[in-house]
Amino acid sequence: MNQSQAVKLYHCPMHPEVRQPNSGKCPKCGMDLLPEGTRFAMLRHMIKSPLMVIIMVTVMVVIMAAIMMMRQ
Ligand SMILES: [Zn+2]
Repeated sequence: MNQSQAVKLYHCPMHPEVRQPNSGKCPKCGMDLLPEGTRFAMLRHMIKSPLMVIIMVTVMVVIMAAIMMMRQ
């Protein structure tokens, strides 16, 4: 395989099987196609900050605790 690094495929966030060499709309849902790797880049950006992870975990724990307390 001779894949040039300059060639970027665009994919739909909802349909990973939808891939096009140009940006545009997904033919299945009409969402804007994203450059390949964008989803992971966003995830990596969020995980990059340990403080962000701590905040997310804390919020989840607080919400779960609130739900359990409301049930009693
Ligand atoms: Zn789609």
